[in-house]
Amino acid sequence: MILHNLGDKSERVTLRQAVLGGQPEKPGLYMPLTIPVLPEKFYRKLPRMTLCESGFELTKAMMGDDIGDSDIAEIIARSLNFPVPLVQLEEDIHVLELFHGPTLAFKDIGARFMAALFEYLLRNETRETTVITATSGDTGSAVANAFRDLEGVRVIILFPSGRVSSIQELMLTTAGGNVTALEVDGDFDACQRLVKQAFADRELSLQLNLTSANSINFGRLFPQVFYYFYGMSQLGFTGKRVAVSVPSGNFGNLTAGVMAKRMGLGISTFVASTNANDTFARYLQSGKYEPHESIQTLTNAMDVSDPSNFRRLLYLFDDDFSKLSAHVRCYSLNDSQTLAAMDEICGKFSYTADPHTAVAYLGLKKYQETVSASGIFLATAHPVKFMNVTGNEVLNRIPVPSFIQDLKLREKKSVRLASSYEDLKSFLLSRS
Ligand SMILES: *Cc1c(COP(=O)(O)O)cnc(C)c1O
Repeated sequence: MILHNLGDKSERVTLRQAVLGGQPEKPGLYMPLTIPVLPEKFYRKLPRMTLCESGFELTKAMMGDDIGDSDIAEIIARSLNFPVPLVQLEEDIHVLELFHGPTLAFKDIGARFMAALFEYLLRNETRETTVITATSGDTGSAVANAFRDLEGVRVIILFPSGRVSSIQELMLTTAGGNVTALEVDGDFDACQRLVKQAFADRELSLQLNLTSANSINFGRLFPQVFYYFYGMSQLGFTGKRVAVSVPSGNFGNLTAGVMAKRMGLGISTFVASTNANDTFARYLQSGKYEPHESIQTLTNAMDVSDPSNFRRLLYLFDDDFSKLSAHVRCYSLNDSQTLAAMDEICGKFSYTADPHTAVAYLGLKKYQETVSASGIFLATAHPVKFMNVTGNEVLNRIPVPSFIQDLKLREKKSVRLASSYEDLKSFLLSRS
């Protein structure tokens, strides 16, 4: 496959360059030059396929020129080794649970696929690769878990001290081995600035073979199409309109959904459910993309005011605002609405939702007030992962998975770092 940089479409790269390089040199994002549409034969079989079977076919359609069948099968088996059930709450409301992976958030799917792809692409590489990533919590947990024990890869994760949930902190700091957690005196933006500076430092980034594992990486974005197909196939193809509501921050999840639609999947409408960071909602109203400062909310994995996948989303609608606004709705919901939605889901359906998932539920409800459609909302995190919001009493309703209990027995290790690039640089060089 060939990918091009949306910032400068004359810049073209291979899958290997896009995944291992992560970010283009010139500002922009990589996207495939062509997006394959799956044949009718595939759609006829889809209702009977497992998650791994359809994931295999989809990967083959996208990356089959670069990776052989048995390697694709291995990558898929390693990344999709947990269930992704669709749970019906009432006639037209379903929740697709994406949180049954090892770090209890949907980011496991992207991170695990990317790690398996890295291993495949680095097979004949003798130099060590350094993966560096900033996290507000979930990305770092998923990356630490997925890249642990990967040979020839050193993983550095920067997280804001005191600003991640206690389970997230355990996940970040107990991976050990080739994974180092850097606990930064500063907020998430400070972590991200440090990572950007490291990439801008060409000498350092060449010397360490630096690459990133953020949602900008196409290797993490693509596998998120799998669960849209699997969710739709569990729903059954009834001919009714279907809306999918996605709790959105950086819009990687939603972009993957639209990519699934471009591959031929019959989702009628996407609902971008966001918190008070309302750049996209304002964009759909005015046609103007004007990010503000980002606001802190209860759904901190979505505290993004300038979503990095916006450019990709627009591209998938041929850079045409009217096409995009015909297929994507957006609702911006505040913290008190989020808490009320958590209570409503619990009261009405005896179902416990994490706050991000509750935002998606409410977005779907708002959409269904205007259009009759069958609906799926995505559950992006397990409720115990955000007990700071859900309250400890969720433990009476939902047990903590046993592998999370085991984390508490592992040794906690992190390196404190001032929010200074010089300190980060000397840390990176001291160990290389
Ligand atoms: C990352 C994350 C999101 C936002 O996903 P994007 O792809 O960045 O839009 C939503 N919910 C949870 C729990 C997350 O970790």
